[in-house]
Amino acid sequence: MTTTVSQPDTSTIALSHRSCRSCTLCCDLPDIDELDKPANALCRYCVRDEGCTAYAARPATCRDFLCGWRTDLSLGAEWDPILSHMMIYRQGAQLTVLVDPRHREIWTEQPYHGHLRRWAAEGRASGGYVIVWVGEEVFKIEG
Ligand code: SF4
Ligand code: SF4
Repeated sequence: MTTTVSQPDTSTIALSHRSCRSCTLCCDLPDIDELDKPANALCRYCVRDEGCTAYAARPATCRDFLCGWRTDLSLGAEWDPILSHMMIYRQGAQLTVLVDPRHREIWTEQPYHGHLRRWAAEGRASGGYVIVWVGEEVFKIEG
């Protein structure tokens, strides 16, 4: 599989051919204030690898969120969170990568580490940078 690697341009428009399927990473890895949910703790409404049991009543944070893989075609099949065990999203100049702590070394493996370094290098000229979270550990990627 050949992947075009460029700084992901994450937006909020879903790619029609991609769906979450059994992924529940964004109900687990990030903190969500509206749910009083800490990072790396499964939401009380989530059934891991199945989905949300409160889907119709889920808060705006959940309704509005799509990870980078759902919106950015430049993220290839290897970045499917079900395979990569990582979720990506943009916060202004910061490209954030949350790693499932059950697969805590995967971001250091290829092709992932190479992509992260390339994105960091590409972003540097415009003030962008890449941050990786693995549980309580945080890493700034040097391009
Ligand atoms: S991390 Fe992405 S693919 Fe996984 S559930 Fe969240 S939006 Fe869907
Ligand atoms: S409310 Fe539903 S969609 Fe939101 S984090 Fe919890 S399980 Fe996920």
